[in-house]
Amino acid sequence: MAITSTDKYVKVAIPVPMRQLFTYKLPAKLNVNAIKLGERVIVPFGSRQVVAIVLAVDDDTEYAAEKIKSILSRVKDNFSFSAELLNFLQRCADYYHHPIGDVFQQALPVLLRQIKQPDVELPQIWLTKESLTDEEHTATQKRAPKQGELLTLLKQHQGMTWSELLTLGFNKAQLNALEKKQLIYSESRPVEVFSWQDSALQQDNRLELSAEQAIIVATIKEMQKQFSCHLVDGITGSGKTEVYLQAMEEVLAANKQVLVLVPEIGLTPQTLARFEQRFNVPICLHHSGLNDKERLQTWLEAQRGSAAIVIGTRSAIFTPLHDLGLIIVDEEHDGSFKQQDSFRYNARDIAILRARQLNIPIVLGSATPSFETLQNALTGRYHYHQLKKRAGNASTAKISLIDVAQQQMEHGLSGTLKQAIKNTLERGEQALVFLNRRGYAPAINCQECHWIADCQRCNKPYTLHQGQGLLICHHCGSQKRIPPQCPSCGSVRIKSLGQGTEQLEERIGELFSDFSTVRIDRDSTRKKGELAKLLQQVSDKEHQLLIGTQMLAKGHHFPDVTLVAVLDVDGALFSYDFRAAEHMAQLLVQVSGRAGRASKPGKVMVQSNFPDHPLLQDLVNNGYQHFAKQALIERQQAMLPPFSFQALFRADANYPSYPEKFLRALTEHSFDGCQFAGPVPAAMEKKAGKFRYHLILQAKSRKQLHQAVFQLIHHSANNEWQSKVRWSVDIDPVDLSW
Ligand code: ADP
Ligand code: ZN
Ligand code: ZN
Repeated sequence: MAITSTDKYVKVAIPVPMRQLFTYKLPAKLNVNAIKLGERVIVPFGSRQVVAIVLAVDDDTEYAAEKIKSILSRVKDNFSFSAELLNFLQRCADYYHHPIGDVFQQALPVLLRQIKQPDVELPQIWLTKESLTDEEHTATQKRAPKQGELLTLLKQHQGMTWSELLTLGFNKAQLNALEKKQLIYSESRPVEVFSWQDSALQQDNRLELSAEQAIIVATIKEMQKQFSCHLVDGITGSGKTEVYLQAMEEVLAANKQVLVLVPEIGLTPQTLARFEQRFNVPICLHHSGLNDKERLQTWLEAQRGSAAIVIGTRSAIFTPLHDLGLIIVDEEHDGSFKQQDSFRYNARDIAILRARQLNIPIVLGSATPSFETLQNALTGRYHYHQLKKRAGNASTAKISLIDVAQQQMEHGLSGTLKQAIKNTLERGEQALVFLNRRGYAPAINCQECHWIADCQRCNKPYTLHQGQGLLICHHCGSQKRIPPQCPSCGSVRIKSLGQGTEQLEERIGELFSDFSTVRIDRDSTRKKGELAKLLQQVSDKEHQLLIGTQMLAKGHHFPDVTLVAVLDVDGALFSYDFRAAEHMAQLLVQVSGRAGRASKPGKVMVQSNFPDHPLLQDLVNNGYQHFAKQALIERQQAMLPPFSFQALFRADANYPSYPEKFLRALTEHSFDGCQFAGPVPAAMEKKAGKFRYHLILQAKSRKQLHQAVFQLIHHSANNEWQSKVRWSVDIDPVDLSW
């Protein structure tokens, strides 16, 4: 009897907000035996057609076969998810309890998400003509040595793309000349995996490692073929980047790829130049500035292995890589690694997951490690490496505290600070003023005796909700009227801490109207290329006074800025967000590493109502690490992360009672080792006409947390308020303000 192929069934991920796979029939005529996991197919969904990813193929199905719809077609191109990436993305969806279709959607370049076959050109590749003779070759080498070099290269690696050639230092003119002489030609077709192994790694500008650096590089190299997580903890300028570069050498020499994740703002031309100058291999960039086509290009080059190094921001963690050998996460503490909407992943955390799955090392670097990472390093789960000495001759700015309670304030500036700014500007140097971006008041206090309105049950400050005229504790939900006078000293000078920021920026400009002021924050740099332009103006000294947000704290170095002023750290000292002090300390240390240089050392001045606050004192006098260890002890006593694990349920609706009731219904379930906090209104309680509520679930172990979240998502289907709210779950939340 002839063997006829029969229909099969596939389970696919569809970009809809549902935590499930969908089953379709795969008709025999679609060549069922050739179907691969990770392939894209087009399926009917409701009245639409969508692109879906094949995650399983079965001979049978648990559903009634006649009710199952058929796949319309297979997408006929070469772009599919590798087994490694499929597995990784499925684990990400599980970990974050996020709809799997959306996870795949976000990992896929936009052009590959569309029904319409993207008109993606296959990469154009260059080859030498088959009949190329040795005479022709040597003649070219004699007449035009660079063209000769190019010819030799193409002879060795038949089929190289233009971007590969460009990275290797050739130009269009050389290519055109050879084409004109009909020695080479181009074709559009998929190329086999390119090997850069033979192209010598450039080593001329390699630095001699210090003893500290050498030990780190040696340790990482020793563990090259297994999973290991390394924290490189060293101040700005201590030589972390040099460590990354030398740790990469052997990986690249083994023809494996390196993935480098950097914060959103950290991908400067200088960073790229440093990698390019060191290694003579193709480097791909992946960041938000790319258009859809460029993004796809990076994706494809990484997948086929022609990109040796991929440097990118958060979502670069989903890059398909042919043979990944090492992951580096620079500035691992940076908040931009966490996606703050829909699929709320932390690229640093899943980078560790990916490294573990691939059995390769991962290096986390920071001058101010996150407490989570530091705790893992201190307990030996990660290899802990410290760089204590500065490699270059840059200097660290000294931090000093200004007690603003003693001073007359003008537009948020103390007299001391105003004078310091004035002196700096008059010396022809630049000053940088940092503003807290928070648009709400995280605490209220008495201007006279420093009394703070604390919640008695939580020992944390109440958050001011001006609209309602209430103080609300964001930890336990208890509420209180704003007291008309201080219960401690009777003064009526009760004020909120923290102020409106945009206005303040204008006022400072007015105060120093003789000098040019520039504001650098997300709003002023929204336009493509604007940030680079403004930074160039700053380094050309077109502006003397820089006003900026935290985005200026990372990635840039300002040698002529000799004064950095931080207007308000108090919000961070008394925030309902237990991570606020950690973030404040990171900011201060990062800032102090940005300003000044050996010949012109910088100063950092920090205004506070509480200069004696133990956290501030500890940071200023003993440094970040000491501060962090102390703060970790407090976290442990309070059983806060990293000593416990959290999930944040967010819900919003047009009426406040809906999200409140939806979340309250969740708290009716109970789980071993888990506790609820809330529901409480979000710090930003109303946004775009919606009322927002939070519920935190905290557990002693990750396992307990995940089991509870899984159950709660399951129960939510029967929650009578479910259809009235929009809700989401955030695993390991970092920003509790919204
Ligand atoms: P980080 O990444 O920690 O900020 P870098 O690696 O950028 O530090 O090093 C800071 C400066 O010190 C750079 O100019 C770098 O060239 C230089 N440097 C780093 N390591 C060495 C070394 N072993 N010998 C000499 N200079 C070094
Ligand atoms: Zn008082
Ligand atoms: Zn409370």
